[in-house]
Amino acid sequence: MSWNDNILPLWHSVPSDIEKLLHRCLEEAAAKLQNGRRVFVFFRADDIGVPGEGFAKLVSLFRSHRIPLTLSVVPAWLTRPRWQELLTICGKDHRLWCWTQHGWRHLNHEPRGKKLEFGPSRKAAQKREDLWLGFQRLNKLMGEVFVPAFTPPWNRCDEETLTALQGLGYKALSRSLGVQPPAPASLPEYPVSVDLHTRKEQDAALGWQNLLRELSANLANGLCGIMLHHQRMNYAALGFLDLLLDKLKGWQYGRLVHLGTLLEEDGKLQEGSC
Ligand SMILES: [Zn+2]
Repeated sequence: MSWNDNILPLWHSVPSDIEKLLHRCLEEAAAKLQNGRRVFVFFRADDIGVPGEGFAKLVSLFRSHRIPLTLSVVPAWLTRPRWQELLTICGKDHRLWCWTQHGWRHLNHEPRGKKLEFGPSRKAAQKREDLWLGFQRLNKLMGEVFVPAFTPPWNRCDEETLTALQGLGYKALSRSLGVQPPAPASLPEYPVSVDLHTRKEQDAALGWQNLLRELSANLANGLCGIMLHHQRMNYAALGFLDLLLDKLKGWQYGRLVHLGTLLEEDGKLQEGSC
């Protein structure tokens, strides 16, 4: 059963012993952690801007667990009425949410190859203009709750975009772990390394194998960013996320945060003292 189309095979075939598998995954990560080091875990929900049933279900889950969520908003999709509705759905506890920027219009401008909104096919000035339009719109609609952190659509952008981000006053960047080009030193990066809903595997068993391995390896890294797409979730995906949030809450090594908290604590992160 689903309220969405375009659901990955693994969400049509959740292992019956998933709770046990997840438990083992956390134990493996804990065994690799040195000196009982704490792990920052953040969830980043992409393609936000249009309120609806899927968004409400996702937010409700984080509210019920009281776990922070980073929301990556496509500026061109957001209007004042939509923003009011998103806020109503999110409820009163504003400390749970961190509102950031996801591209400008979420459009691909590359004629061939990988999709990019901020890629080599356009002039630097055009990309800078789009970044600024997005920044201004979110700043105007959201006011002080807007955190100027940038996630490029499809998790990638070119060097000119990174340079422009610095000049426009962005405070952070979030792409996929290990993606090129590297972020400038002045722009802290908080990458996602676990993808729950837009994976490549067309085989469910392989999808689960890779997903759990990804989760275990990245939890052992000290920083684990988990990417969500509510448009690609069904009830099974929602159920797994519920279980994952529950397990992570009870995992003694994990500290569940959003991007705003990571930015605040960046000094400590760089020292590696947490
Ligand atoms: Zn996106």
